[in-house]
Amino acid sequence: MSIIEIDKQFVANTYARFPLEIVSGKGSLCYSSGGKEYIDMGSGIGVTAFGFCDQEWQNAVIEQLSKLQHTSNLYYTEPCAKLAQLLCERTGMKKVFFSNSGAESNECAIKVARKYASDKKGKDYNVIITLKNSFHGRTLTTLSATGQDKFHELFSPLTEGFAYANANDIESVEQAVLKNKACAIMIECVQGEGGVIPLDKDFVKGVEDICNKNDLVFIVDEVQTGNGRTGSLYAYMDYGVKPDVVTTAKGLGGGLPIGCCMMNEKTQNVLGFGDHGSTYGGNPVCSAGAVSVIKRIDEELLEQVKEKSKFVFDELSNAKGVESVSGKGLMIGIKTIRPAKEVIFDCMDNGVLCLSAKDKVRLLPALNIPMSVLKKAIGVIKDACAKV
Ligand SMILES: *Cc1c(COP(=O)(O)O)cnc(C)c1O
Repeated sequence: MSIIEIDKQFVANTYARFPLEIVSGKGSLCYSSGGKEYIDMGSGIGVTAFGFCDQEWQNAVIEQLSKLQHTSNLYYTEPCAKLAQLLCERTGMKKVFFSNSGAESNECAIKVARKYASDKKGKDYNVIITLKNSFHGRTLTTLSATGQDKFHELFSPLTEGFAYANANDIESVEQAVLKNKACAIMIECVQGEGGVIPLDKDFVKGVEDICNKNDLVFIVDEVQTGNGRTGSLYAYMDYGVKPDVVTTAKGLGGGLPIGCCMMNEKTQNVLGFGDHGSTYGGNPVCSAGAVSVIKRIDEELLEQVKEKSKFVFDELSNAKGVESVSGKGLMIGIKTIRPAKEVIFDCMDNGVLCLSAKDKVRLLPALNIPMSVLKKAIGVIKDACAKV
């Protein structure tokens, strides 16, 4: 039996996989079991921030792996402590809780928000306002936070205490705060799974104002937008706001599972002993990889992300078969005239791997994709879009 056949027989049917087995990769290139080379424009959904088997990241991980792979959170380890310090120094946040995924990072944020309000206003102030068309994860509580009905239907009853407002409509957020005993507002600065849609600056600032006025916890979900993806270390930094809680995951570990929930002055002491935990959280190998990732996201790299972003926008806006291009940095959505799926399969046939988001083609290439490789990939994507 081939790997594809074994997988189809024994792995749960939750993924509509492409008919492609990837066996190895280096940087922004990867290779199929048939020996074909592909340019990777998806980074494992924004995870392999510096591409496949990047040397610097690999060295950091292997060095730690040969010293100590896991201790549990009963003991101190250097990579976890150093990563928390680095994240706080780079963001101005005060404390970090480590988890293993985006959904878990958001679970932590939700617990922080509920406990903050419970301590200050009472237990009934437990509603978290999120946005329609958002995506916050697959656990029952983060599904509940996700403002898309299609995720809610099959698994009721979901966790209570979420209300949904319209994105880029500050009155809708105000109404939701008035109608509910709210404890927090949670947003993605660029809605990723929802179709790569950046929120307006005024709206995000407005959300921050509402949080400050009503003593709500302002949570920014940077699971996808974080770690250099949008051209700043975290996307909120480019919106001129100061969240009370920032969550991230995906690109943080460069390909190993790690996520975190960062808390500021207001929220840093909400969680106490025993309030939360994770067996793997802050695992030394994942943390060592994350330290190497965060250290490399400096001004120079962020400038390059912005330059490459501008190149993609310039090439694709007004290209034949392209209706519009949206996004920020190297998080890009392309509304195509052909169905996105057809474009993606066409690109795959021609050696370029792309993602989708709703009805769009989505690109999340490695932050350090060489310009020559990016040019080649965009050429293939343009050709696929043009075949109307
Ligand atoms: C991917 C994603 C999540 C969920 O992350 P997992 O690691 O799959 O749990 C949550 N929020 C946003 C914005 C995401 O893009």
